[in-house]
Amino acid sequence: MKVAFLGLGNMGLPMALNLVKAGHQVQGFDLLQAQLDAFKAGGGLPVLSASDAVADADVIISMLPASRHVEALYLGNSGLLVIANPKALLIDCSTISPKVSQAISTQAKAKGFAMIDAPVSGGTAGAQAGTLTFMVGGDAVDLDRARPLLEKMGKNIFHAGASGSGQTVKVCNNMLLGIQMLGTSEALRLGIANGMDPKVLSDIMSKSSGRNWALELYNPCPGVMDGVPSSKGYAGGFGVDLMLKDLSLATENASDLDASVPLGELSRKLYEVHSQAGNGQLDFSSVFNLKLD
Ligand code: NAD
Repeated sequence: MKVAFLGLGNMGLPMALNLVKAGHQVQGFDLLQAQLDAFKAGGGLPVLSASDAVADADVIISMLPASRHVEALYLGNSGLLVIANPKALLIDCSTISPKVSQAISTQAKAKGFAMIDAPVSGGTAGAQAGTLTFMVGGDAVDLDRARPLLEKMGKNIFHAGASGSGQTVKVCNNMLLGIQMLGTSEALRLGIANGMDPKVLSDIMSKSSGRNWALELYNPCPGVMDGVPSSKGYAGGFGVDLMLKDLSLATENASDLDASVPLGELSRKLYEVHSQAGNGQLDFSSVFNLKLD
């Protein structure tokens, strides 16, 4: 199967390389030369444009930062819906607005393409290990076509429902994750202010009713856990600005539907303050150091 992979960033690069390792011919494109070089070093075939990548592809996968990048890639006079072969299956793995995702999918179907939204959870470690969770929106028959590839990049593949549903699940999940990371950080800081050792505090809470993913697997307090961003100066991982984008997707979605998400809104504001203080590129667990006046 010939695969075009567009967007070789923190997530896209290891995902595309897992397809290469599984024996697929993968033509990859990114706007950044450094990402193309890393793709080549891992055994992939870098190309000079999106149109070169998709020319004879059976499947086209995109992994871009946000809604506006995905709209720009697929739509317009030189977008994928014009230049790609409609026999190609389109898989967008980026986290974007459910509304935008549905709109692109509707236009894709009108031009004869099959398209699924397949955002992921599991972070860069999951992307490298090939253990991502995929949340898929679209027709079951199209997911079945995608499954052999998704299985090379992930270990849990869920069909959430119609087009855009994968994005809806992802937005709900990341709103909860953003809230959990803030709550976990707040509890740890309170314990530390009381003179507690954060490792002892974390070990006890991990076996108590406050246990959660941020505490147990991605502890935000430096020195508690090896191998996580908090113990590497908050480098790599999932950026503050990407979490801020996802919380904005959640609050915009809630406002469209008149749904109430007060904790989501408060969390969005807190990550915004943290980003504006110059921390946008750090991992989102750096919100442990959030300073409020
Ligand atoms: P990233 O910024 O590291 O990578 C995005 C890449 O897309 C960049 O290399 C950029 O140059 C490239 N790009 C932008 N426009 C392009 C275009 N038109 N053609 C080709 N390449 C283009 O971001 P990331 O961390 O890889 O995240 C990608 C998506 O996955 C985001 O939507 C993010 O929310 C989501 N996500 C990230 C994580 C994580 O832990 N980083 C986890 C789950 C989901």
